[in-house]
Amino acid sequence: MIVITKEKATPQEIQHIKDRIESYDCQIHESAGETHLIFGVIGDVRRIDTGQLERMAGVDRVVRIMRPYKLAGRDFHPQDTLIQVGQVTIGGPKLTVMAGPCAVESQEQIIEVAQKVKASGANILRGGAFKPRTSPYSFQGLKEEGLIFLAEAREKTGLPIITEVVDVASLPLVADYADILQVGARNAQNFTLLKAIGELEIPVLIKRGMMSTIEELLMSAEYVLSKGNQNVILCERGIRTFEKYTRNTFDLSAIPLLKQLSHLPVIADPSHGTGLWELVSPTTLGAVAAGADGLIVEVHPDPEIAVSDGRQSLKPNRFGDLMQALKPVAQAVGRQL
Ligand code: PEP
Ligand code: MN
Repeated sequence: MIVITKEKATPQEIQHIKDRIESYDCQIHESAGETHLIFGVIGDVRRIDTGQLERMAGVDRVVRIMRPYKLAGRDFHPQDTLIQVGQVTIGGPKLTVMAGPCAVESQEQIIEVAQKVKASGANILRGGAFKPRTSPYSFQGLKEEGLIFLAEAREKTGLPIITEVVDVASLPLVADYADILQVGARNAQNFTLLKAIGELEIPVLIKRGMMSTIEELLMSAEYVLSKGNQNVILCERGIRTFEKYTRNTFDLSAIPLLKQLSHLPVIADPSHGTGLWELVSPTTLGAVAAGADGLIVEVHPDPEIAVSDGRQSLKPNRFGDLMQALKPVAQAVGRQL
């Protein structure tokens, strides 16, 4: 961090600035420009409130050099993080394909989807048992019954399961069944939930909030990492913009950018990213070409009657076609399916 003093800063103001920096247990490397003093701040600057420093009389500006996400960032952790979930390694050369319905609707539905997506090459089953819905009158999920059906589908197919946790109260229950927790877009900045997940060891996929910047997503990951849980997966699922033809605006650039900034695996969610099943396949191919470590895709045996997100859900045969279309793209960028 660099602190630049004002041109007319008084000696008292300068001393005050130095005392404040030292109160954070940081050292000062001072250099004098023609009109300003420049303090290089050395030490653990994460706890320094830059706004507070900037407001001090005598301070012209404060420049952070280190990124605020020390644990999620690549600076101190250049090698890719690999996350092991059963037989599946997330983040390595093999792409991770998570597929399944938006919501678990019945035992038959989830088992049928699980068997079909597995036959097409998916390696993780998705399905929401606790659904965060915009309307309180919409289907809220089968809750524990849904988790039991997911566990049965895992039993039958061997596919590990990812499912959403919506609050701290249900975290122990969901963590008991899930192989990977999903933190949804609406909870991406639920810091109480993120800290509670940080106390566990279970892998967690954090979706980008619909209004979150890339830095905010990385700070959400930082919450989990800073509590000790190192098994964090990032997910680009589109952000809300003025565009109305798609449900969200899928940010393709976020994928290579997150890969550059962070060592954590990055998963693309073209289903929520676009909201339209016809766009899922082309955006998936783009996401993999851009360096995604895998995808999470909604697949429903009969999207017309799906209780949630039917419009963006692929039929199982279309998911099979997507997996075929993905092969040459994966190969072109040195990844396997
Ligand atoms: C979901 O995965 O079904 C979901 C609710 O996603 P998001 O949190 O990205 O909206
Ligand atoms: Mn959904």
